[in-house]
Amino acid sequence: MPELPEVEVVRRGLDEHAVGRRIGAVEVLHPRSIRRHVPGPADFVGRLADRTPTAVRRRGKYMWLVLDSGEMLLTHLGMSGQMLVQPRGKPDEKHLRVRLPLSDGQELRFVDQRTFGHLLVDEPGERVDVPVSVDHIALDPLDPEFVPEAFVRALRAKRTEVKRALLDQSLISGVGNIYADEALWRSRLHWARSTRGLTNAQALELLGHVTEVMTEALEVGGTTFDGLYVDVNGESGYFERGLNAYGRRDRPCGRCGTAIVREAFMNRSSFSCPSCQRAPRSGA
Ligand SMILES: [Zn+2]
Repeated sequence: MPELPEVEVVRRGLDEHAVGRRIGAVEVLHPRSIRRHVPGPADFVGRLADRTPTAVRRRGKYMWLVLDSGEMLLTHLGMSGQMLVQPRGKPDEKHLRVRLPLSDGQELRFVDQRTFGHLLVDEPGERVDVPVSVDHIALDPLDPEFVPEAFVRALRAKRTEVKRALLDQSLISGVGNIYADEALWRSRLHWARSTRGLTNAQALELLGHVTEVMTEALEVGGTTFDGLYVDVNGESGYFERGLNAYGRRDRPCGRCGTAIVREAFMNRSSFSCPSCQRAPRSGA
């Protein structure tokens, strides 16, 4: 599943390849991919025709093209979505869902095998460059306007498990399962620790590791753990080589050599070192 660093890589690619190119006659090849665009496919196509993207922005895993009409083309890649830039005439991908021809002879192609991703044309909310449907999402830690102290205060005020808080999009956005496990490993914190039990210093350290692990992933083009994700030019990221906990069940912890364990968590998995990341006593 694409996480924040992967989405940021795609954003940078679109910034280079889509900004300043006029959009032509858009084709919706699967209605499910624009299911959140309530007025339907004809309206979606009409709002994009002859519009030119002026910027590409992102918050968490949401990404959007700001259009010269003042509206925005909002994208969420879901589980398996890809946004590719291809030359016109190149054979269609098997799971091509939406085609957006550009005035420079290339096409933006939204390819999505599992169709959990979606596109919609949205209006600005409280800010002219943020879509109304993204207004309620918290800033992500790579956003220049993110305030660490405010996050730490909100985190410590929660009565929940620390990993659950990291995945809470109203508190901090863009932290997926992989980066949560990696940041917790670096912080030597078990995922089930209570947020109320964290000191200010521990919470700040954890946030520092979240930011660090995402920045490192960004530098190498994101992770591609499930093999489905490719960036705007179809190239895979390779950050998985640098993972310390996620997906490493039964392999030795890089710090102490103890075998990494996998536990069920929110219908997914949590990977941790049982020695470096001691599980809380019940109620702790
Ligand atoms: Zn360890």
